[in-house]
Amino acid sequence: MYDTPTQIPLAERILRLHDASPLLIGVFDEHDMLRYANPAFRRALGLPPDTFMTWQDLMRLNHRQRVGTRIETTDFEAWLASARSRRGKLPYRAFEAERTDGRWNFMTESLSPDGWMLCVAVDITDLRADERSLRADRDGAWRAARTDALTGVSNRMHILHLLDEQLAQLRSSGQPCGIALIDLDHFKSVNDRYGHYGGDLVLRDFAHVVASTLRRVDGFGRLGGEEFLAVLPGVDRSELAGVLQRLHEAVRRSRPLSEHPGFHYSFSAGAGMLEGAEDALTNIRRADHALYEAKAAGRDCHVMLP
Ligand code: GH3
Ligand code: MG
Ligand code: MG
Repeated sequence: MYDTPTQIPLAERILRLHDASPLLIGVFDEHDMLRYANPAFRRALGLPPDTFMTWQDLMRLNHRQRVGTRIETTDFEAWLASARSRRGKLPYRAFEAERTDGRWNFMTESLSPDGWMLCVAVDITDLRADERSLRADRDGAWRAARTDALTGVSNRMHILHLLDEQLAQLRSSGQPCGIALIDLDHFKSVNDRYGHYGGDLVLRDFAHVVASTLRRVDGFGRLGGEEFLAVLPGVDRSELAGVLQRLHEAVRRSRPLSEHPGFHYSFSAGAGMLEGAEDALTNIRRADHALYEAKAAGRDCHVMLP
């Protein structure tokens, strides 16, 4: 096709290098849809040629068919919520991941401001195994320190940290951020009627419904009990209200107790835009006032701060 090798366009040359490289190279768009993957990436993750899917579906496939990423869990949705609570929140991050074939990858994620993500991984199986298990223990402890054990979403410490980061972002670059303080309705009576175990199932269901409704850049965590905080970078007031509306609808449709198929539940929320002049807890307190109003207005609704 080309007379001499020097006439090969640079973009094609890069693609050829990717095709031949043992590095895993993948690109995800802002909706976490895989848009490009080289053959090594596809081999490692058990993805057939010319197949594209979201990262969530890719992990679901890996879990179901026991290919690609090793996912050791009895509760895949909690695993997914936990992984999503860390994915795409930083411009760059790196971590080690085990594959079902016993090999280990050093994974990197580079995020561009428009939400596209470059994933590059290298096989580190041949590095010293004893040091690797030490690092795996450290990474496990790192994750556990940030994850709510019941639901898999961010714990109180981690979501407050994400909130502080957005506050710093707002002050330095003016990027707006929406927050929503969320409390499940009549949760005491859920416990009274279906037991503490039933209550726990509802909490987990709520976390999973929210995690699959929010975007990758959004933060979501459990502050304690049946109270949650969502942090939505870059949204405006009307988008924030729209997200909460979608969330109300998704939660109303959910039927978390298989033995009580008629059971459904709801939440109330106080929401508004982050104020850069206030600290994190003052912002949460303002949202709490709006949440109180939502409860007073009859629940299963949200109130927006002025
Ligand atoms: P409201 O609509 O006004 O929010 O009513 P509520 O009953 O949800 O409010 P309240 O704060 O009085 O009750 C919260 C209940 O949540 C009390 C507690 O028993 C329950 N709870 C807190 N943490 C957990 C948990 O981890 N698991 C379960 N199953 N229940 C919990
Ligand atoms: Mg409460
Ligand atoms: Mg409540």
